[in-house]
Amino acid sequence: MTRTIYIVGLGLIGSSLALGIRRSHPDARIVGYNRGEQSRTIALEQGIVDEASDDFGQFVEEADVIFLCVPIQQTIQFIKELAQLPLKETVLVTDAGSTKEAIVAAAETYLSDRQVNFIGGHPMAGSHKSGAMAADVNLFENAYYILTPSALTQADAIPRLKDILSGLHARFVEIDAAEHDRVTSQISHFPHVLASSLMHQAGEYQEEHPFTQQFAAGGFRDMTRIAESEPGMWTSILLTNKESIIERLAEFGERLKTVQEMIATGDKEAIWQFFDQGRRIRKEMEIHKRAGVDSFYDLFINIPDQEDAILTVLEKLRGISVVNIRINEDNRADIHGILQITFKNKEDLERAEQIIHEQTSYQVFVD
Ligand code: NAD
Repeated sequence: MTRTIYIVGLGLIGSSLALGIRRSHPDARIVGYNRGEQSRTIALEQGIVDEASDDFGQFVEEADVIFLCVPIQQTIQFIKELAQLPLKETVLVTDAGSTKEAIVAAAETYLSDRQVNFIGGHPMAGSHKSGAMAADVNLFENAYYILTPSALTQADAIPRLKDILSGLHARFVEIDAAEHDRVTSQISHFPHVLASSLMHQAGEYQEEHPFTQQFAAGGFRDMTRIAESEPGMWTSILLTNKESIIERLAEFGERLKTVQEMIATGDKEAIWQFFDQGRRIRKEMEIHKRAGVDSFYDLFINIPDQEDAILTVLEKLRGISVVNIRINEDNRADIHGILQITFKNKEDLERAEQIIHEQTSYQVFVD
């Protein structure tokens, strides 16, 4: 029997999930809902879904699995609506929201009277792009895909979901929804607040000190890249993980006060220890070596100031998928090279490094 997979929200995440599911389940019937016409049309034209609708209720009764891939508040709204709609007895409902506790709580509240299996889901990969146009079958490759079981998760539901998602080549981790939100508040939500705060501060400072922009180099760029994220999604995240994020902010405030004190009193030893501890912890956590939340792999190539140098490099890397290219011309104080090419995984980065090393005379650096 052909299974019907219902993707609700044909944006970046929903469309990419559909492509991944199709890869391992070519016989599945994949249907989709999207509010706006553009992503619906693209998803149909590109074969991401077999059928599409702008009516959320249309495919609900036929679905064996429902993926809610819309903003968090809308996910909660659709969970409420599911409670009122006819559903298959064995239906498995899951979502893609970046916070989990509020969504799992909504499912437990509204769906507990129904024969529904609900598992919270968070595929930890994304990009600044949105919509079906940005769909990428490899988006979740090697990424963590968090599953947060609920009181409505029966024993066979998780293996069933993992099987459906096997074409994503993601790394599944099961964790309690509240713990997911606590951990992501520390490593994702709070850093996004910090990155935006740094940009606000630099923006204001620049008004009085115009060199601010010109001198902002690699370190500042690395600290603030995520400030370019989509404001709507981050507003939803902050509003559905309030407690943990406020806690992280308060703790950080205390930390900054301590550093301020060390500087004010000229405590050389304490300042040295402060940096040494930060360096040591980062090394132990091997942050730069691991794939994970939103991680990228950068190659730096020291190229001469010649017209065809960049083209030569790119020609040699033909066939390797590149996430971003940047030419760091103005300030080379704290980066290794001038042409920075970003890859999505370690394998591509290593292949590219080897090619440039063997086939050109340019110096090449990783991280
Ligand atoms: P997107 O903007 O590409 O797609 C969102 C989809 O939701 C669109 O199809 C849009 O039409 C639909 N939508 C928005 N508001 C709606 C409403 N009020 N009613 C009905 N439909 C509505 O966004 P995305 O990146 O695919 O994000 C979808 C979900 O995935 C969000 O819950 C987000 O938290 C989560 N997520 C995003 C990322 C990321 O980096 N982009 C990563 C992991 C999880």
